[in-house]
Amino acid sequence: MIGVYGGTFNPIHYGHLRTALEVKSLFNLEQLRLIPCRQPPHRDQPDVSGQMRLEMLQIAINGVAGLVADSRELDREGPSYMVDTLMTLLQEFPDQSIVLFMGADAFLGLEKWHRWQQLFDYAHVVVMTRPSFTVEFRSEFLQQRVVVQREALENKLAGCLFFQAVTPLDISATQIRQIIATGGNPQFLLPDAVLAFIRQHQLYQAAPLTTGH
Ligand code: ATP
Repeated sequence: MIGVYGGTFNPIHYGHLRTALEVKSLFNLEQLRLIPCRQPPHRDQPDVSGQMRLEMLQIAINGVAGLVADSRELDREGPSYMVDTLMTLLQEFPDQSIVLFMGADAFLGLEKWHRWQQLFDYAHVVVMTRPSFTVEFRSEFLQQRVVVQREALENKLAGCLFFQAVTPLDISATQIRQIIATGGNPQFLLPDAVLAFIRQHQLYQAAPLTTGH
């Protein structure tokens, strides 16, 4: 099984990294591919280039076996639709089944994703949750796909929805960007080497105040 973990990663932080490592081990994944999106379809364009977000990701997972930085969405023109990404992965790894991982916040917006129902034609979907998470289904389509045993994913190539509790780390990239923009220190929310890269390239600094005419 190959895992897919998409995101803006602006910047990557320990919330991403810890959950990535946990699901790689829980699902016995051969590899977990972290895929920064080029142009997030549901949000404003990030002010840090895809290349830099990818570099931070590479720095963060350097030397961690099984975690792979995958630039396919940055290499592709136009918006990053996960359904297209899964199709290209299936072409590349025809003998593997694919598991798409997302946080509970991303899952709440799933029905807004481009051709979202087709995601289940290509992959299983696993939602990484807090231990106390309870889901309210908005659609029968999703409800029908739920499996309660992790092992059930091995019996089918795609199409299942599973909820996996992971260690909750209440860290967000937004919080890190805000800390930096206001002159604070985000150390220990993300790897030191990523922070050094951010400092070196002066990322996430507050825009200088304009002084009128
Ligand atoms: P932002 O604050 O800019 O929205 P983010 O920290 O939420 O960013 P993304 O790159 O948007 O990070 O998230 C990519 C994926 O990682 C999503 O599926 C999201 O749910 C998940 N994720 C983000 N932060 C955490 C966290 N602390 N714990 C578990 N999953 C997370």
